[in-house]
Amino acid sequence: MLLGVLLGVALCLAGLAAARTLRGRRVFGTPAQRERHVPKLASGAYAAGSFALSEPEAGSDPGGMRTVATRVDGGWRLRGQKMWITSGAHAGVIVVWARTGEAGSGTRGIGCFLVEGGAEGLKVGKAEEKMGLRASNTVALDFDDVFVGDDAALGEPNGGFRIAMMALDGGRIGIASQAIGIATAALEEAVAYAKDRKQFGKSIGDYQAIQWMLADCKTELEAARLLALRAAWLKESGRPFSQEAAMAKLWATEAANRICARCFQVHGGYGYVKEFPIERHLRDVRVTTIYEGTSEIQRIVIARGALR
Ligand SMILES: Cc1cc2nc3c(=O)[nH]c(=O)nc-3n(C[C@H](O)[C@H](O)[C@H](O)COP(=O)(O)OP(=O)(O)OC[C@H]3O[C@@H](n4cnc5c(N)ncnc54)[C@H](O)[C@@H]3O)c2cc1C
Repeated sequence: MLLGVLLGVALCLAGLAAARTLRGRRVFGTPAQRERHVPKLASGAYAAGSFALSEPEAGSDPGGMRTVATRVDGGWRLRGQKMWITSGAHAGVIVVWARTGEAGSGTRGIGCFLVEGGAEGLKVGKAEEKMGLRASNTVALDFDDVFVGDDAALGEPNGGFRIAMMALDGGRIGIASQAIGIATAALEEAVAYAKDRKQFGKSIGDYQAIQWMLADCKTELEAARLLALRAAWLKESGRPFSQEAAMAKLWATEAANRICARCFQVHGGYGYVKEFPIERHLRDVRVTTIYEGTSEIQRIVIARGALR
C-alpha cells in the first residue's frame, strides 16, 4: 500500500497516489511506516514522493544496479547514484532500491528503503532539460553514505526486486492511462481543427484522407481504453494482472504515439508552432514508450507469459 502511494506520486499524481493507498491490496509498509508517510503524502505536506530504481548503468535491467546498502549498527548506509528520478528534488520521501547482497547477486540481492527528502548525504542533481513533460522535475540523486534506520527498510532485506516488479505492474496501468489522456486531448483538438480549417473551399474534415486518420485514432484509442480498464479491473479485483498491464502499456503508449503524430499531421503547419497544444502532446507522449519499462521490455514480459 505505501509503495503504491510512493510510486503514484513519483508519477506526478498525488491524487492517484492517494487512491492507490486506499485501494491497494499488497501492503509492504509497516503500520509505523504508513503512519509516518501516508498522511503527509495524502495531505500534501510532502510536495511529492519519488521512486528511485533506475541508475546511470541500470535502466531496463535493475539487476545491474550498483547502489549499495551496507549493514551498520542500527540500520543501513546507502552509497551510489540514481538517475531519472521524477520529483526527486521535491520528494518528502523516496523509495530507494539498493544492493544488499553480494556483487553479482543480481535481482536476488536487492533491498528497498525509505529515504526522507533532505537526508544527510543525499544530493540532488540538476534538473534534466527534457523534450517533454517539462512541468515535471527529473533529477539524478547521489547517495553519499546516507544512513537509514532499520525502521526504514521496506520488506525483506533481499526482497526488494519483487517489490519493484509489483510496483511497476501497477505503474504500467498508470502510464497506459497517461498515454490515453494525452491521446484523447490530441484527438479532441484534431477533430475541432478538422471542422474549423478550410482548404479548397471545404472543411478539411470533409476529406476522406483526414477522416481515415481520425477513424484510426478513435479506434486505437478505444482499444487502449479497454485494455487499460481490464488491467485496472483485474488489479482492483485482487487477481493477477501483470500480463494485462504489460499489454495495456504496450498498446496504449505505442497507439498514443501514432495518434499524436496523426493529429499533428491534421494540423498542418499550425501543428508545428506553440500556439496549438498538439506540439506539446507530441513531445509529452514520446516518453510513455520508455519509462515504467520500455515497449521492448513489455514485449519480453508478454512473450514470457505466452511461452509459459
Ligand atoms: C522523463 C523520465 C522520467 C523517469 N522517471 C523515473 C523514476 O521516477 N524512477 C525511476 O526509477 N526511473 C525513472 N525513469 C527511468 C526509466 O524507467 C528508464 O529510462 C527506462 O527503464 C529505460 O532504461 P534506460 O533509459 O536505461 O534504457 P536502456 O535500458 O539502456 O535501454 C535502451 C534501449 O535498449 C532496449 N533494451 C534494453 N534491454 C533490452 C532487452 N533485453 N531486449 C530488447 N531490448 C532491450 C530498450 O528497450 C531501449 O530501447 C524515467 C525516465 C525518463 C526519461
